[in-house]
Amino acid sequence: MQRAAFRVSVPEARLLPADSGREVVFAGRSNSGKSSAINVLCNQRQLARTSRTPGRTQHLVVFDIDADRRLIDLPGFGYAKVPKGMRALWEKTLPRYLETRQALIGVVLLMDVRHVLRPVEQQLLGWCSESGVSAHILLNKSDKLSRGAAQSARLEVERYIKQNSLRGASVQLFSALRFQGLEQAWTVIGEWLSLEDKADPGCGAGGSG
Ligand code: GDP
Repeated sequence: MQRAAFRVSVPEARLLPADSGREVVFAGRSNSGKSSAINVLCNQRQLARTSRTPGRTQHLVVFDIDADRRLIDLPGFGYAKVPKGMRALWEKTLPRYLETRQALIGVVLLMDVRHVLRPVEQQLLGWCSESGVSAHILLNKSDKLSRGAAQSARLEVERYIKQNSLRGASVQLFSALRFQGLEQAWTVIGEWLSLEDKADPGCGAGGSG
């Protein structure tokens, strides 16, 4: 991930690079700390922010790790004033992308640990589960809560995952500010991006596995 470099920013999912190799998507409500998390995970101070220039906040931003692997930074959702195009992206394009994109291995979902499982986050987790896409939740800003309160937020999300039988979903505490939870997140994302278990480049990797 430290090699990740800005490639392109596109207004629609259909303009993304060709559907091959492996990609991991970062999603989250605006202000959840998604940019900060991408930056610390890639160990690059300005990676996410510099690419998301004003006027392009609704774009999908692509970062290449190498020729076969990339990260995709989705537009932050949950702005008070949601532009029409954004609502269309959320309600139509995103479920279709999750369902059909062969290269997509997993979604890293940033949540503010103090306000977990907002409706839009539950919706995304449901779509991931239905599409057989793994979701790893980073409960960010855990530095803002006591240890006990942070753990109960984590347990609440774990309970939700179990109760709703969300296959392939996992959760951890994280703090982009304090560099907490990096190892655990790297392990999950690293496994997703590892090309070793990809049988045949032609047959896609998005199966139920
Ligand atoms: P984005 O809109 O989701 O990309 O969020 P940003 O990365 O821009 O962060 C939003 C705000 O939350 C900024 O003021 C960050 O400094 C702050 N922030 C991000 N991560 C953390 C964290 O782990 N702990 C704390 N306390 N603040 C954070």
